[in-house]
Amino acid sequence: MYELNEKIRDLVPYEPINGDYKIRLDANESFLPVPEYIMKEVIASELSLQFNRYPDAVAEKLCAAFSSAYGLDPVNVAAGNGSDELISVIFGGFLMRGEAFATVSQDFSMYDFYGSLSEGRAVKIQKEADFTLDVDKVIKTCNDENVRLLIFSNPCNPTSLGLDREKIRKLIKGVNGLVILDEAYMDFWDQSMLSEVLNYDNLLILKTCSKAFGLAALRLGFAVGNEKLVRAIKAIKSPYNVNSFSQMMGTVLLSHKAETAAALKQIVASRKELEEMLLKLSEEFPGKLSIIPGCTNFVTVITEDKEEIFSYLLKLGIAIRKFPEFLRITAGSHSENCETVRFIGNFFREGK
Ligand SMILES: *Cc1c(COP(=O)(O)O)cnc(C)c1O
Repeated sequence: MYELNEKIRDLVPYEPINGDYKIRLDANESFLPVPEYIMKEVIASELSLQFNRYPDAVAEKLCAAFSSAYGLDPVNVAAGNGSDELISVIFGGFLMRGEAFATVSQDFSMYDFYGSLSEGRAVKIQKEADFTLDVDKVIKTCNDENVRLLIFSNPCNPTSLGLDREKIRKLIKGVNGLVILDEAYMDFWDQSMLSEVLNYDNLLILKTCSKAFGLAALRLGFAVGNEKLVRAIKAIKSPYNVNSFSQMMGTVLLSHKAETAAALKQIVASRKELEEMLLKLSEEFPGKLSIIPGCTNFVTVITEDKEEIFSYLLKLGIAIRKFPEFLRITAGSHSENCETVRFIGNFFREGK
């Protein structure tokens, strides 16, 4: 009988919360749909796509639009089928079997997943009790353990906390291995290392169009680094990893700079609104919940009642994310924020 190997035997398919929920604040997506006039432009461009041909293998136009949006040189950019694919490609190529890779806890769970598939040796670095990251501890652990690859998100999903540039610079300089800095949420903050990426020979920055740009359905991610690192990614990825439609639509969206900047502002305003509403709730119910002041498009809520609140909301058709230490609520539209916070208030009012 054929037996699965021990690396994959116990794995199960990734299952996001599925079902028909009227309010989805569980996946950190943008709550803003693509504006209709931009959709019309996309549809017009679609008519000239050649669907019988393979896509551009290096997504030249898309990378040029991304580079222009962030003030980069396209030779420093590689595109992926979501940054998720890039994480997988990087682990598959940059790490040899048995070599050490480091992740921090709490952080994006996919890092450990791809790391274990690549048969690297996992080194886990714990954050402090207040969910902050001790940079000196990270540097020491990485170098003591001969870590070849360190990956973490900044700002962090799921804590929503960020490390400022000064700390990140220290970290990259201090660590001997390759640093993969996942800036999926940096559009919502102002401490990006993109403009300094060429100062380091061991830094790759990951970006995505799934959060700030509201294009989660397209699966578009980018890796940014010096030419040697980016060429290596292009060499090890599968040849036609980003489909023609996504390349085209991503190019169109990234070229609408005023529109994307306005959307970004709206999302940040929504996060602040959600934060303030939850803060008020924490004053109304002292000791019941607190929030971590963050710099992303979601709010992290600490409460003893996370299981109960999570199920209570789910029954009402509202999906959020539950973690062992806290709840994570994506910033939604004004009415989605209001409704969600109102029901959390009801939960406490009913003394559940
Ligand atoms: C959402 C998320 C991603 C995934 O981005 P995709 O481009 O949609 O694959 C990567 N990193 C972090 C930290 C995220 O939260």
